[in-house]
Amino acid sequence: MDMQENTQDKPLDFIRQIIADDLRTGKHDHTVTRFPPEPNGFLHIGHAKSICLNFGIAQENSSPCHMRFDDTNPSKEESAYVESIMRDVQWLGFDWGKNLFYASDYFDRLYDYAVQLIRMGKAYVCDLTGEQIREYRGTLTEPGRESPYRDRTPEENLDLFNRMRQGEFEEGSRVLRARIDMASPNVNMRDPVIYRILKVPHHRTGDRWCIYPMYDYTHCISDAIEGITHSLCTLEFEDHRPLYDWVLDTLATPCHPRQIEFARLNLTYTVMSKRKILQLVSGGYVAGWDDPRMLTISGLRRRGYSPASIRNFCSLIGIGKKESWIDMGVLENAVREDLNETAPRVMGVLEPLKMIIDNYPEGQVEEMEAQNHPFKPELGTRKLPFSKEIYIERSDFMEDPPKKYFRLGPGREVRLRYAYLIRFVSMVKDEKSGEILEIHCIYDPLTRGGNAADGRKVKGTIHWVSAARSLNCPVRLYDRLFTVAHPDAVKDVDFKTYLNPDSMRVLNDCRMEPALADMEPGSRVQFERQGYFCIDQIDSQKGKPVFNRIVTLRDSWAREQDK
Ligand code: ATP
Ligand code: MG
Repeated sequence: MDMQENTQDKPLDFIRQIIADDLRTGKHDHTVTRFPPEPNGFLHIGHAKSICLNFGIAQENSSPCHMRFDDTNPSKEESAYVESIMRDVQWLGFDWGKNLFYASDYFDRLYDYAVQLIRMGKAYVCDLTGEQIREYRGTLTEPGRESPYRDRTPEENLDLFNRMRQGEFEEGSRVLRARIDMASPNVNMRDPVIYRILKVPHHRTGDRWCIYPMYDYTHCISDAIEGITHSLCTLEFEDHRPLYDWVLDTLATPCHPRQIEFARLNLTYTVMSKRKILQLVSGGYVAGWDDPRMLTISGLRRRGYSPASIRNFCSLIGIGKKESWIDMGVLENAVREDLNETAPRVMGVLEPLKMIIDNYPEGQVEEMEAQNHPFKPELGTRKLPFSKEIYIERSDFMEDPPKKYFRLGPGREVRLRYAYLIRFVSMVKDEKSGEILEIHCIYDPLTRGGNAADGRKVKGTIHWVSAARSLNCPVRLYDRLFTVAHPDAVKDVDFKTYLNPDSMRVLNDCRMEPALADMEPGSRVQFERQGYFCIDQIDSQKGKPVFNRIVTLRDSWAREQDK
């Protein structure tokens, strides 16, 4: 399958179809979309879906996509989150240019609009407690009851709202509510709270405000202020759309964006809510927001996922209106397909077993020529030092191999990749433990490069590195963070119960081609036969890389499930 981002050849998803129609009929002559995260955590792969959608539409129409921070809840938000979000969006390959906005920039205008609603008799200050408001709201089957404060005069409301702003009242003692319809079948329309008192300083406005607007009220007005044409959000906001429209209709804003909902990304073997991810981070279950096992953008980046692989994944899963689950294997395959094209091939031995080639001259070093990429000759070749003592993978030798095992064993001959054919001679074992300490082989000098002049065939090819000229470094092998596909779907069971205790395995004595010492942190390679790996950007030091395995070469999970 062609994994290039190729939106042109695919049928349009329903949102792009709506936009195409709006442009064709002249309803709009341009588009403006936005990505509106709340800066209360790091972005995750679900956000990538929304980023690729909003910024993707902007790119396709040569029009802007706004980056807007929905920063209306100072008790949970921080500027560190703002910075991480900007870094992640840019890393994914998107650019908002000068279109960087904060809902907090609109606090004055939001206040003025609230005053306007009060004057129109469309908003009132309510003294019910939070609990009472919930009680009065009713349920899906029962209508709500009207607040005893609902019929305050605009004058009284203006006075009280102003005094709320001045800080005269305690947190929780009063709120401003839209005056809509307590009998509406849609509970979101039953006089929703639009302002509350919060005596918390804000990371951008400091202590200028002690009342803060609610999300639903803020979001539509921010969209309208910015001239957004299509306000794209996830399905849980479908029931909020009447409120979105009510606020803008009532205020008769010159711009009234169209809200369109799409299904959020749900991915197996992970949790996607920021609240749950935060629990993993603050509880120390992972080593931070960017732990390579996490499905945060920063975790994926650190693990070694390329931005293109994430964009390709988002394009592959598409945009729809029905909730569904995407298998983690789809994401893993997206990075495999990308790195298969782009990652240089190298050799690395993860669990080394020493091999001594008895008939190879002591002290001799030969430079073997190795291809950097099997189907990209333009990526050239490199030289690998070959010597009498090398390391092979422990799992590439078996003392008593089964029939279908084509690697090394007693009496067998295999190919050392790019080097020689070698034949097993003997092994040395630890007397007490029985562990194999080293194996001895002989090589056939007439097979340089790996082919026999007499045409004899060997079934197995194994990788190796020179013992004297290898780089010794740690490798971290990652597995899925959860042991079950739907960790947060079991009623009454905490999702953390399903954390995979073996999600990280550290191998401390791996042997690599020496040239890897010079690679930059963040570089991605394929260790032949082992998978794709990335040099950790944080734990590596100059000349001393630490490798993270991004993904294995094949979907081993799928194979195990097939059994
Ligand atoms: P979470 O539910 O993980 O806490 P959120 O929706 O509260 O996320 P926001 O910062 O409000 O996080 O999200 C910013 C944008 O990203 C919103 O438009 C939201 O709809 C979208 N988004 C969040 N999660 C997903 C997801 N899993 N799939 C697609 N879009 C998502
Ligand atoms: Mg949200």
